[in-house]
Amino acid sequence: MANDEIAKLTEDIVICEACHLKDSRTQVVPGLYGPKNGLCIIGEAPGYHEDKQGIPFVGRSGKLLDNMLSGIGLERKKDLSILNVIKCRPTTADNNNRTPTNSELKFCGERWLFKQLKLLSPKLIVTIGSIPLRFFIPSAAVTKYVGKSYDTDFGIKLFVTYHPAYILRNYNLMDVYNEHFEGIKNLYLDLLNQNEIISEKKKSVKGQGEQKSLTDFM
Ligand code: SF4
Repeated sequence: MANDEIAKLTEDIVICEACHLKDSRTQVVPGLYGPKNGLCIIGEAPGYHEDKQGIPFVGRSGKLLDNMLSGIGLERKKDLSILNVIKCRPTTADNNNRTPTNSELKFCGERWLFKQLKLLSPKLIVTIGSIPLRFFIPSAAVTKYVGKSYDTDFGIKLFVTYHPAYILRNYNLMDVYNEHFEGIKNLYLDLLNQNEIISEKKKSVKGQGEQKSLTDFM
């Protein structure tokens, strides 16, 4: 994404040493940026492979996520942003991945993720798993919120789905996962259409009956 502000912000993120998680990382994983005013997928924090490669959602989970996105006509970076709430890998004493604490989420998320979202200004956020949902809606239980969309206090629509690693362990939920991604596609198209209707009112243009794909809107 050619954007000076986001490039400058990313330069600041990758040298951040503001909390103790700087000690457990190989590198900071700032995320991948897609188009502004688009779709943003948000996970919790880098794991082992993400920390090594500097890219969010890699390995088997990342592959499943990419397949799910491809099933609804989207491709990471080209069509959407993928970020984590926390930018450095949280580890246990024996160097395994661990779930971030609420204070770690709040500290890094408020320091960097909110700034990224302000610049990207997404129409739709998709939280992957229970941890990023907890960052946005602290009292939320993923079982109650999953597969649905919500209006956040900061004016961006949020859709909740499972982490691909959870689906890899519970493959019987694959049909449900497909339904979630179909729901994400429909919601996203609705949001883009709403935007288009507003701009059509101002300018007027697109021919009726024209088949649209997601990328037509970007
Ligand atoms: S986790 Fe976030 S706040 Fe902590 S050092 Fe990494 S980038 Fe900075």
